[in-house]
Amino acid sequence: MYDVIIIGGGAAGLTAAIYACRKAFKTLVVSPEYGGQTNLTSHIENYPGFIVSTGWDLMSKFKEQAEHFGAETRTAKAVKVEKNGEKQFTVHFEDKTSEKCKAVILCHGKLPRPLNIPGEKDFLGRGLSTCATCDAPLYKGKTVAVIGGGNAALEAVEELRNAGAKKVYLVHRRSEFRADEITVKKVKALPGVEFVLNHSPSAIKGDKYVTSFEIEDVATKKRRELKVDGVFSEIGHIADSEMVRHLCKLNDHAEVLVDEAGNTSCPGIFAAGDITPVRYKQTVIAAGEGAKAALECHRYLTGGTATGEYSK
Ligand code: NDP
Repeated sequence: MYDVIIIGGGAAGLTAAIYACRKAFKTLVVSPEYGGQTNLTSHIENYPGFIVSTGWDLMSKFKEQAEHFGAETRTAKAVKVEKNGEKQFTVHFEDKTSEKCKAVILCHGKLPRPLNIPGEKDFLGRGLSTCATCDAPLYKGKTVAVIGGGNAALEAVEELRNAGAKKVYLVHRRSEFRADEITVKKVKALPGVEFVLNHSPSAIKGDKYVTSFEIEDVATKKRRELKVDGVFSEIGHIADSEMVRHLCKLNDHAEVLVDEAGNTSCPGIFAAGDITPVRYKQTVIAAGEGAKAALECHRYLTGGTATGEYSK
């Protein structure tokens, strides 16, 4: 039996693993892939201690450090957490296997938000991408569109241009941006970039691969098509907490509610990072929250005094 199973291998989960292992906990990290959303960022300039790093490099160091301290890592998808008694849980995986543990730390982050427009399912992976870092090099010399007005979308435009895309449309449904002003200014100054504002996505079209992207003017409802070779959807992420819905209180966004120490409403289950309502979804914040949840888990398993709303 493990002391703790950490579900999710991004910044929160791997940091929780480092802290759990340093408390000599037998620790298993399970995740379908490692690095989380940070992996998808080509330039991290706001993780203290690293003036600039690729997300992948930074996350590889997190994983190496967790394994160095003894964390076991398994590439698997957790589908259900079952509570068998006090300090007794079973985590079930998609491949029908399971593992037992005394405590669980949820760090499974979020998935790309769907566009819910015609063509999305047909062209995902065939010209429609949710990962500029992964797919930008495929669009050298091509014309592409990026959807969204947050940091991810603006950075995707920059990344596509850096990878040699001939022309990049940034399609955003408003004229104000969620992205940092410094990034918006930098991207606006790039050659080969056209901002198409106040337009929402309405369809992705093509044959075998994407050939055009239909957008709708938000005010007039008039539709037009952009001839593109690819579309990058960078419209944020959503939570999938079905595996603990029967055990933990969730909010309307399916985020797992936690107190200030990372306790969920189910004693013995903790949560950290983007899967919680933490306001700012940042690597450094997820790492800090992961550390906090692991320390609280240690306090719980060693019979420490209860603190926080959910641990009383
Ligand atoms: P955000 O939630 O910040 O932005 C999502 C964007 O997509 C918004 O502009 C939103 O429009 C738009 N959008 C949402 N749904 C739709 C839809 N159905 N159709 C069209 N447009 C839609 O998500 P991000 O992924 O950009 O960023 C998430 C978090 O990660 C943020 O906190 C961000 O700062 C952070 N981040 C930080 C980075 C860094 O520091 N280097 C890099 C990347 C992300 P609207 O504005 O109208 O709601």
